[in-house]
Amino acid sequence: MSESPRLEVHGLVRSFAGRRVVDDVSLQVPAGQVTCLLGPSGCGKSTTLRMIAGVETPEAGEIRADGRVLHGADGHVPPEGRGIGLMFQDFALFPHLDVARNVGFGLAGGRSEVAARVDEMLARVGMTRFAAKYPHELSGGEQQRVALARALAPRPRIMLMDEPFSGLDERLRDGIRDETLAVLKEAGAAVVLVTHEPAEAMRMADEIALMRDGRIVQRGAPYNIYNAPVDREAAAFFSDIN
Ligand code: ADP
Ligand code: MG
Repeated sequence: MSESPRLEVHGLVRSFAGRRVVDDVSLQVPAGQVTCLLGPSGCGKSTTLRMIAGVETPEAGEIRADGRVLHGADGHVPPEGRGIGLMFQDFALFPHLDVARNVGFGLAGGRSEVAARVDEMLARVGMTRFAAKYPHELSGGEQQRVALARALAPRPRIMLMDEPFSGLDERLRDGIRDETLAVLKEAGAAVVLVTHEPAEAMRMADEIALMRDGRIVQRGAPYNIYNAPVDREAAAFFSDIN
């Protein structure tokens, strides 16, 4: 029998006001891989991610991590028990805590153990010398690196990222995408990254799941999807890439 993928989502459904905004979405993400959930605004990406995180309840479907049920007919694990790291658009740093305390916030373990982990994570994102600074003293890109360090500090098995670069200056984005990808790969989590930008998915994904009107219409390696889009709409969506 083959090993279970780190994250396995099967047949997720969610409606609002009688409309299915997530309609039978399935994903499999192995440890150490990045799946980009890519699609236009309103297609159901964030709702899918919120269900995996456990802050939105599916009407149907199952979510497993390493074979263990996080949500389904056989059980439900609350968000804090899922071993999931989050970077959401509106997931800001704590303004009243310095960088080191932001990264260490809520970490389990003794004082010296937490301090060592914070040091390790700050080094990994190149932010060691900012440890005593406060969020308002940092640029957007620096804040983003701290948020990444914070999300990965507890060693999550799964990392969910919702448009994490959308607030950043466009000139900085490619560099930060590459840095983020390197840190994610080193951490080895299964990553689901939501984006509406094809260029971002092309740059970061091992696999792209192309979403439209609540459904995944195509999935595959970035190069394959780019070269053989499933239909004209998918082709048009990718044609904006420069
Ligand atoms: P995306 O992240 O792809 O832009 P969302 O998952 O945020 O899309 O939203 C999908 C659809 O569901 C949108 O039409 C949105 O307006 C609707 N929606 C999302 N959350 C709610 C909610 N809590 N109540 C009502 N409608 C919602
Ligand atoms: Mg969204």
